[in-house]
Amino acid sequence: MSLDRVSALLPDDHRALYIGGRWRPAEHQETFEVLDPADGSVLTTVADGTVADAVAALDAAVAAQHDWARTPPRERGEILRRAFEAIAARAEEFALLMSLEMGKTVAEAKGEVAYGNEFFRWFSEEAVRIHGRWMQAPAGGSRLLTIKKPVGPCLFVTPWNFPLAMGTRKIGPAVAAGCTMVIKPAEQTPLTMLALAGVLAESGLPDGVLNIVPTTRAAEVSKRLQDDDRLRKVSFTGSTGVGKILVRQSAENLQRVSMELGGNAPFIVFEDADVDAAVDGAMVAKMRNMGEACTAANRFLVHEAVAEEFAAKLGARMGALSVGRGQDDGVDVGPLIDEKAVAGVSALVEDAVAGGARVVTGGSAPERAGFFYSPTVLLDVPSSAKLVRQEIFGPVAAIGTFATEEEAIARANDTEYGLASYVYTRDLARTIRVAEALDYGMVGINSGLISNPAAPFGGVKSSGFGREGGFEGIEEFLETTYVALPAG
Ligand code: NAD
Repeated sequence: MSLDRVSALLPDDHRALYIGGRWRPAEHQETFEVLDPADGSVLTTVADGTVADAVAALDAAVAAQHDWARTPPRERGEILRRAFEAIAARAEEFALLMSLEMGKTVAEAKGEVAYGNEFFRWFSEEAVRIHGRWMQAPAGGSRLLTIKKPVGPCLFVTPWNFPLAMGTRKIGPAVAAGCTMVIKPAEQTPLTMLALAGVLAESGLPDGVLNIVPTTRAAEVSKRLQDDDRLRKVSFTGSTGVGKILVRQSAENLQRVSMELGGNAPFIVFEDADVDAAVDGAMVAKMRNMGEACTAANRFLVHEAVAEEFAAKLGARMGALSVGRGQDDGVDVGPLIDEKAVAGVSALVEDAVAGGARVVTGGSAPERAGFFYSPTVLLDVPSSAKLVRQEIFGPVAAIGTFATEEEAIARANDTEYGLASYVYTRDLARTIRVAEALDYGMVGINSGLISNPAAPFGGVKSSGFGREGGFEGIEEFLETTYVALPAG
């Protein structure tokens, strides 16, 4: 596949780094390849930034910070609003670009454009609502004033699974709050982020506010930038292992950190649930993004009275999905991101089957070029299986059974993670009990889709801390100064 149909979206020379409002080559002119996951071919090459390039990007962000923080909130909001309109007008192209570099179907990518773009609209509206407070001290006398200020230059490190939304979710609040930023996009999917930079520049974002350094040297770059005391915040979305490295590195200069890390979402179906609705929800919670989502249902916990029915219905729906190139008509499920992802999913399924799981549908990688895995449903998954502890990140629904509500809650919470969770029940009292008992940042009730730009997205335990979206999202980019005033 070629990038011809989306070339208008990409800067004239998308092989370049974006630093201080200019597109430039990498220091040593080096590049790396971006692959088409549908057949493994090279889609294009992109500049491979060095540590010196990343420092130049931070220099640009630092230089822009003073004036940007003093730009009126309305102006910052209107830049985001214009970018929102521009992305909406070019949704088809953005969707195609993402489908090409990441593999998801164009329909799915359109959904991501709509979802991701909402962060720009939401934060365009939040920019003008940043405010401190004024109060009388409890003992009378003095007055207490709080002022909100941007935290300062930020580093954003983003994953490949949602190339647009993982950018807008960080860029939106940072722009609204008045922060400048250096972005290191995932090496598998740098093009969408470069296209976003183009749209933001056209929308009036001043030079230096946003800088992008695609690189294969993520570890060196993050270490060097975090060792620099001018960097004030790190926001990361990705694996828990890398998140821990970034948190450790943040200690040196005590940078603010937001960590959106891995998940191990339970999807609980009680005996009183509407099983057909639960299957509909499961299709979304499991198959959105081919299962390559941190919110993906990872463990289906189904009451033993309805487990066979749920598995048979889910198996029929999953087995009927058509797998293929994300840009082809009629395709429901695209490829996984790379060969390593296919090997990882295969190994987890083999381990579960060796432990006694039954294959309802799928269970293998189809014989074809590209990085595909067949939609799979496993029943009677033993709790000793590796995929019970670890994120599958692929189109595999692993079903285990339970007998009581207490058991379901205990098993759902028996994980180091705590990002998304799903509950299907028609009992209101149970809904409240279970939602309160689950150790998760997010609980979906009778719904397989919980992400919403107006809601606080984030996790607890090894899923990280900090929230993106909602009223909470902008707080991650603001500092509070308290001013003590005499009563006058
Ligand atoms: P990853 O952690 O390997 O990579 C994420 C990003 O970190 C990439 O840009 C990568 O280049 C970079 N990176 C790797 N090592 C680094 C280092 N030492 N310093 C700085 N950057 C480094 O994760 P992945 O495989 O790309 O993404 C999948 C993971 O992301 C899953 O675990 C998933 O759950 C998680 N995820 C979480 C959320 C969320 O919001 N909680 C959203 C999407 C994905």
